[in-house]
Amino acid sequence: MNATCGLCGEQLEHDYLCHRHALALAGRLERLPALFAELAEHLMPRRTGLSQIGGPPGPRSPVNEDVIDLRQDGVVLVVESWRADVQRVRWPRHSPPPIEGDMDQRVMTACRWLAMELEWIAAHYPAAGDLAREVREMEGGMLAIVGDPPPRLQRIGTCVAVTDDVGTVCGAVLSRMPGDPVRCRSCGTEYRTAQDLLLLRHYQPRESA
Ligand SMILES: [Zn+2]
Ligand SMILES: [Zn+2]
Repeated sequence: MNATCGLCGEQLEHDYLCHRHALALAGRLERLPALFAELAEHLMPRRTGLSQIGGPPGPRSPVNEDVIDLRQDGVVLVVESWRADVQRVRWPRHSPPPIEGDMDQRVMTACRWLAMELEWIAAHYPAAGDLAREVREMEGGMLAIVGDPPPRLQRIGTCVAVTDDVGTVCGAVLSRMPGDPVRCRSCGTEYRTAQDLLLLRHYQPRESA
């Protein structure tokens, strides 16, 4: 089978997303819930001066309409409908996932689920390019409101590389600047592919959350 990346058109042997765009989508899905939560803080436009209190009602809405659209159902519906569609294609017999929690939890759940299925999506889901494009546009829309955060060191987890032949796990804290590759400063292990990152996530010690 010959396919092309649904985003950049790169010729691929099997997949519907090239490696670069699969990684980019993984990153977006990981950042999206926090971005969505932050959006709530931008619901009210910047406070107006005292002079405006009690003035005639202006044409401006007291809340930011774009934020309302995205917060109310824009983002939630988008990620949940992609999740439902991936599930429909992959497991046609399963019933759709139950919807639980508030908006923030729902976005988090759907993003996590999609991220966990990313490898399958990139390899087998014909609409992977559309999914990646829509998530990218949605992120752009939210960043336009929230503003780009200053780059911050991201904590990725702890290194899961085995460093000797008795199975000792490195365990060093992994961090990186956004967009940089993940490389352990202690043992030098690099986590470069989507597979590496999935394994890294999979073997993280359970967080007490
Ligand atoms: Zn691509
Ligand atoms: Zn290490």
